[in-house]
Amino acid sequence: MAGEALIELRGVNKHYGKLHVLQDIDLTVDRGEVVVVIGPSGGGKSTLCRAINRLETIESGTIELDGRPLPEEGRALAQLRAEVGMVFQSFNLFAHKTVLDNIMLAPVKVRKQRKDEAARRARELLDRVGLVSQADKYPAQLSGGQQQRVAIARALAMDPKALLFDEPTSALDPEMINEVLEVMRQLAREGMTMVVVTHEMGFARSAANRVVFMADGRIVEDRTPEEFFTAPRSERAKDFLSKIL
Ligand code: ADP
Ligand code: MG
Repeated sequence: MAGEALIELRGVNKHYGKLHVLQDIDLTVDRGEVVVVIGPSGGGKSTLCRAINRLETIESGTIELDGRPLPEEGRALAQLRAEVGMVFQSFNLFAHKTVLDNIMLAPVKVRKQRKDEAARRARELLDRVGLVSQADKYPAQLSGGQQQRVAIARALAMDPKALLFDEPTSALDPEMINEVLEVMRQLAREGMTMVVVTHEMGFARSAANRVVFMADGRIVEDRTPEEFFTAPRSERAKDFLSKIL
């Protein structure tokens, strides 16, 4: 349902040594919303994603998923990681497992799904990302764009409440970027809640409900794509846009 907070960060702070990498971050992502996070390298975008999935701890503030604080450890943490899927720049597929096995692994291990049921569902998901014919191949036999689509299918296999994407197309050859963005656009249309760190401004303009501009550990702007791209307020964002557009 729109208008209902699914991910909520309040007053979140984190340092790496002296570096204040997340500074008083307030961010709400509603159910079904697509939030694109952009900004210069080193601004804290990856750390933000990792904090939401609790791959990083925070020092102060709160992060809630669906109205509940992120769990600290144990089974509840594994459950959280399943509920908030993450897709990385580097695909992170298991090289020694087939495409189908990559997708089945977490449902069988974490969810205790039956193998035949998990395999059926994995084929369904592969069909959704246009790769059902590649089920028995190994990741190295696929192109980068295909591997990233498998990584998305793998995240979807856990029926996540939200998906985080950290520069999902940055490692891809240009001709493969669109096939991955198209899968992401399709997910957005289907109502998936998504936080997407990307430099693909076309995707931000066409698919985002909001653009969050992050620099030096702060959220500098948080506005609609129309507002952000036509009239950025901060010098930081103007400077960033003038370099990439
Ligand atoms: P972005 O994704 O926007 O490029 P990151 O979140 O990766 O930014 O990094 C923000 C800053 O934190 C950078 O200066 C980076 O060097 C630093 N940083 C990231 N991870 C670590 C770490 N594990 N230890 C120390 N410094 C880190
Ligand atoms: Mg990053």
